[in-house]
Amino acid sequence: MPDTAPYKADVAIIGSGLTGLVTAFWLGKKGIDTIIIEKASKTGGVIGTVQEEEFIYETGPNTGIVAHPEVSELFDELNGLCRMEPADERAKKRLIWKDGRWHPLPGGLTEAIKTPLFSTSDKFRLLLEPFRKKGRDPFESLESMVKRRLGQSFLDYAVDPFISGIYAGDPAYLVPRYALPKLYALEQDYGSFIMGAVGKMLKKKDAGEKRATREVFSVDGGLANLVRALESKTGTGKIFTGIADLAATPFNSGYMLHGKKEGLEIAFKSEFVIPTVNPHEYGDLLPFIDSREVSLLKSLEYAMVVQVVMGFRQWKGMDLNAFGGLVPSREKRDILGILFPSSFLKNRAPEGGALLSVFLGGYRRPEIWSLTDDQLTDMALGETAEMLCLSECRPDILKIFRYKRAIPQYGKNTQERLETIARLHSGYRGLLLAGNIHEGIGMADRIRQGKRIAEHVAGAF
Ligand SMILES: Cc1cc2nc3c(=O)[nH]c(=O)nc-3n(C[C@H](O)[C@H](O)[C@H](O)COP(=O)(O)OP(=O)(O)OC[C@H]3O[C@@H](n4cnc5c(N)ncnc54)[C@H](O)[C@@H]3O)c2cc1C
Repeated sequence: MPDTAPYKADVAIIGSGLTGLVTAFWLGKKGIDTIIIEKASKTGGVIGTVQEEEFIYETGPNTGIVAHPEVSELFDELNGLCRMEPADERAKKRLIWKDGRWHPLPGGLTEAIKTPLFSTSDKFRLLLEPFRKKGRDPFESLESMVKRRLGQSFLDYAVDPFISGIYAGDPAYLVPRYALPKLYALEQDYGSFIMGAVGKMLKKKDAGEKRATREVFSVDGGLANLVRALESKTGTGKIFTGIADLAATPFNSGYMLHGKKEGLEIAFKSEFVIPTVNPHEYGDLLPFIDSREVSLLKSLEYAMVVQVVMGFRQWKGMDLNAFGGLVPSREKRDILGILFPSSFLKNRAPEGGALLSVFLGGYRRPEIWSLTDDQLTDMALGETAEMLCLSECRPDILKIFRYKRAIPQYGKNTQERLETIARLHSGYRGLLLAGNIHEGIGMADRIRQGKRIAEHVAGAF
């Protein structure tokens, strides 16, 4: 036991990634005394921005989507501390690799008719999509749903690469009800993707909905500036980094948390405890939870992802006038896709140069994660040279980042996990499991969840 008295707060958040920081921000605004306890020596979780030579690159997520009004609202609140950087118009163009070259993903009907990405029969099939029966199996895979409504070529050259880009995942594993709830709702509510999309377009949006623009965003100077802004709002005295072996236990009407800072015992006491960490941490972190419940939560599978960042002072390859290119699994290449951040964000590379992020691995190619740096470098350089028309690919900087549990995959077992979470929430007052174990995998989802949880907690005070 520590010699000193425990540090007391109303709420202890575990993990200082985006979820933890946003939750702390909104709790702070409501006057609720909140601390964040973090294992790593830095805040931000998987978010990290590096300025190196004339390049600014991200080591984790590169961009988010203004998918929920809470994203715009958060940036309004942080005005003066950090500024959202909306992506340039070029980010609207997405490329898909097919038969040895890039093709733009169609943005409208005429382009969809002309594109070689989809088969002629599937283009005709599309006309009948509004008349197809809606699915009845709530656990149907995305693959089955898309084949049923749109056809194989739409699965192969639209949905499969799109899923690589977001989930680094496999449409045969993901269940739309959990992984793409908006798409699932289109079919369930309107009977058709097309009718649903039209219906949504015609529906009058309230002020909040209008703020969910679906635009791609980053932050001036990089996403780490969002972390810094949130951190400064929380106050450094309220953030405890470098805390090892943390374990929480119910105590009176709240929780005691014990851990170690530089080898010395440290303790915290709070009414609420909000873990935002990966469920694989729960066993040690929340030892009071029954091991069967922990196993159910740990059944969440993750895609392993490798990101290879390359900076070129002088770009000599093809015109990078797009968000990036995605590679359908059917094409049997070694990469998931390449992002072109310097094409749509400011100051990411010097004038005339380029910054690229190459993604490899994913749910279907876990073996890539364990390759050596030399093997990954060869793979990324070879694919980039061939796909972006470089006679030789010699970047001025090249960095490799590996994420073992990068993106959670919401498959069939999600329902069981959601029920377990609900059971634990009602069984342990003050325990709120947060993070991407539920309620979405993207940064916008984390921002929305942080606010929702803060509102829930505020209701209890
Ligand atoms: C490679 C990659 C690319 C991505 N690309 C995108 C993208 O383009 N767009 C997008 O919207 N989203 C993207 N995402 C997802 C997005 O980054 C995440 O949803 C979000 O940043 C997760 O934030 P979080 O706070 O929930 O989790 P994390 O960032 O994982 O934070 C959890 C924190 O908990 C800490 N922790 C863990 N265990 C303990 C413990 N026992 N005690 C104390 N602290 C602990 C960790 O150190 C960490 O700081 C990407 C993710 C990855 C990995």
